Amino acid sequence: MSLQAFPGAIRVEEYVKRTYDACLVHGLVSEKTLAMVGVCRDELTDALTEPIRAAWGPPFRMSGMAGMLFLGQAGLRAAQFHAPGADGRRRYVAYVMPHIGIDDDGRIGYVRRPGQDVTTTACGALMAFRSELESGHVYGEIDPYDLEMSLLRQRLLRSIPYGNVPDIVELTTIARDVMLDDLGRTAARMKSWRDADIAVFSGIHIHTSDGDYVLPGHSSVRFEGSDNPVDLTAEI
Ligand SMILES: [Zn+2]
Repeated sequence: MSLQAFPGAIRVEEYVKRTYDACLVHGLVSEKTLAMVGVCRDELTDALTEPIRAAWGPPFRMSGMAGMLFLGQAGLRAAQFHAPGADGRRRYVAYVMPHIGIDDDGRIGYVRRPGQDVTTTACGALMAFRSELESGHVYGEIDPYDLEMSLLRQRLLRSIPYGNVPDIVELTTIARDVMLDDLGRTAARMKSWRDADIAVFSGIHIHTSDGDYVLPGHSSVRFEGSDNPVDLTAEI
């Protein structure tokens, strides 16, 4: 296990604690805030969503494979009707992050899952897409029976220079930034979201045999219309 590729990664429980403390400063507390998660469908991401649930209550699920946000404006509108707001303000905390494994041989993009005697890919969707890029054969069509993978390909291709094959850490970082960007652009179309207090935490969720970590990415709390960057690299 080596976290060398992810300097600054912190244990997942500590990460969630720091995000909660950062929100508390601006009055975002669990009783008044709806948590939302944009994480991969992989059951391994429960290592992140469980501490989020423990801190904030059950989270609204925003995402599909790899954590991509295909819920769109209608999806965010649904979440809006679930958020507490008895005091006249809506508050949200959103975690958006892809995930990645590191196996005991230090291979990035692989993980040993419980009950298995071989390693498998994580994130499987991003690793599969990267293999397609490497092969030079990326399917551009929307397959109605493989919708999420089709949409993932189309969305990520928009953010990768033509002919470029990023390594899996680079591709995961691109996915992280795409998810953050998509959330911001979707929310910006809705006045109710522009007026709300919202904390957004992006990052990369890392699985190792020594436990789970998060490498924090862009993190901010928008409170009463002004954005406050959050530094999660140190205890608050
Ligand atoms: Zn995945």
